Amino acid sequence: MTSKNKTKEELTSELQELLLEIDSLKILKEKRAEELVIANKELLFQNEEKEKRAQELIIANKELLFQNKEKEKRAQELIVANRKLVFLNEEKEKRAQELIIAKEHAEQSDRLKSAFLANMSHEIRTPMNGVLGFANILRDADLSGEEQQEYLKLMEESGIRMLSIISAIVDISKIESGLMKVNLKELSINEKLDEIYTSFKPEMDRKGMQFSVKKSLPAIKDIICTDPYKIYSILTNLVKNAIKYSDEGSIEFGYNVRTKSEKAVLEFFVKDTGIGIPKDRQKAIFERFIQANITDKMARQGAGLGLSISKAFVEFLGGEIWLSSEEGKGSVFYFTIPYKSPFVGDSIV
Ligand code: ADP
Repeated sequence: MTSKNKTKEELTSELQELLLEIDSLKILKEKRAEELVIANKELLFQNEEKEKRAQELIIANKELLFQNKEKEKRAQELIVANRKLVFLNEEKEKRAQELIIAKEHAEQSDRLKSAFLANMSHEIRTPMNGVLGFANILRDADLSGEEQQEYLKLMEESGIRMLSIISAIVDISKIESGLMKVNLKELSINEKLDEIYTSFKPEMDRKGMQFSVKKSLPAIKDIICTDPYKIYSILTNLVKNAIKYSDEGSIEFGYNVRTKSEKAVLEFFVKDTGIGIPKDRQKAIFERFIQANITDKMARQGAGLGLSISKAFVEFLGGEIWLSSEEGKGSVFYFTIPYKSPFVGDSIV
């Protein structure tokens, strides 16, 4: 009712007010819209920045991962390098130890050689004095024929002793200088053993000792291809020692046929009932020049070369040498050589 009663002016002014309000609302809306656009842009910018930062972080992360891997690799390399260093150090230490040992060996070898030379001149001078002394006595015209024969025998023995020492020195220097050769020939082992038996029998009889020889193969089959000089030297040396170091009882020598690593070998032995060899010396007696260095109350005349030459000869022939001995009871020396018969090959049938 009131509006109906409103005047046209009043309505017009109301309308104008409304229009003004609408205008101001419009302006506000526009401003708000503009603000929204700006806010939106800001947000977009911030998003872009965030994206960029995220990318940078991803790259930084990758970089870190890579660096970690590199570090890991480097650590592994360092571990390997460290191990190598430890190994090299150990090798150096080992080499230093070896050098010390080699030096000690060289010094010991020098000492042994000097002692050996001193011993050797004694060993040569004694029989030499014997020869000269007996020759002097023989000048005496009053000697009976029997006495002359006795002195001649003593001269001969001294000569033989000297010759055997000189032969041993020649052998050892040939071995040391690498000039020793192997001369293979056919040899009847049984005949060689008989020869040795015959040459030592008189000495054994004089000592009142039993002497026997064992031959395990029949004639023909006992013929082998070997170095006769070396076999003879080894056997005579072992038998000589057996006689030298035994005063009673018996000596037996010979061979058996054995199989070693599927190969036929002749296993020689020289067995005595002599003084025996203490356990702690059983290895040393095979070493060169060793007797010269041993203060051995039981050592008898000898150059201390025989066993080292025998060992070298056995090795030249492809065999082994060893012993079994008990002090006061006796010794058995063994050595092997391959059984190479020119008639039956390697087999014993
Ligand atoms: P040597 O000329 O002194 O006999 P070897 O080399 O033949 O030299 O022997 C070395 C050492 O071995 C000897 O000095 C001796 O002590 C010991 N020996 C060797 N054979 C025997 C044995 N059958 N019985 C006891 N001792 C032995």
